[in-house]
Amino acid sequence: MELPLSRAVAPDLEWRASSPSTNSELVRRAAELPDLAVLATDDQTAGRGRLDRVWSAAPGASLAISVVVRLDPGAADPQRLGWLPLLAGVAMTRAVRELGVAGAGLKWPNDVLVDGRKISGVLTELTAHGVVIGAGLNTRMTEEQLPVPTATSLAIEGVADGEADAPLADRALAAYLRALRDLVARWREAPTAGALRPLVEPVLDTLGAAVRVDQPGLAPLRGVAEGLDDDGRLLVRPGGGSSALVAVSAGDVTHLRYE
Ligand code: ATP
Repeated sequence: MELPLSRAVAPDLEWRASSPSTNSELVRRAAELPDLAVLATDDQTAGRGRLDRVWSAAPGASLAISVVVRLDPGAADPQRLGWLPLLAGVAMTRAVRELGVAGAGLKWPNDVLVDGRKISGVLTELTAHGVVIGAGLNTRMTEEQLPVPTATSLAIEGVADGEADAPLADRALAAYLRALRDLVARWREAPTAGALRPLVEPVLDTLGAAVRVDQPGLAPLRGVAEGLDDDGRLLVRPGGGSSALVAVSAGDVTHLRYE
């Protein structure tokens, strides 16, 4: 596929007609790749989500994009690393909004939703040589092609293909890569990890939402999401009352208004 807009952002981007999993390939190759190397396809055949969940998509109707962020020795500060998945979600939220879907927002930690339906998911994997940031974005999927009823796509949200100056896949890929490169640069420059919070909070739909958090081995936690701590963890006020905030670092968060 011709990708003039995306190649202007990332000249050495590798495009595949098909790939089992762009993340798996970049995790394997992370040692030999330069910083911000990109691998993308519109036909990912064995996409992965968190916790061995499956990410599925019809050929030609979605993008799978993986980017390597090389880490300098000693730069793997866990507090700062915790913000990268969030920033990848912010980059995708910005891209989806730029394409015309004003209602796109981030669900903590890194799903992009439109009215409660997932248009993009991000999967970040740490290797010895860097972080691989993978994103799946539903581009041209029709209602019939959606793998789960809780999904949506750019096309379903009214973003037209073929009318603009470049194919939708190229416009979407370029918008995401531009936003991600900007945010990774800010991530590197930030004086403290906590200084990254203002980049995330404005697009984080989870803030102020009633949530249920399911964590392995623990009773479900219900409360109101009130903020992020310096590690990017979600701060939940149990019961929405006056009890102490609980910091959530992993687990499945459900926005209760969409249940
Ligand atoms: P959930 O979305 O169920 O809260 P999660 O945030 O952990 O889970 P991921 O690991 O990012 O999700 O993605 C896997 C899940 O996303 C699958 O279990 C399925 O419910 C959903 N899914 C799979 N393919 C798509 C797709 N193309 N678009 C939207 N959602 C999808």
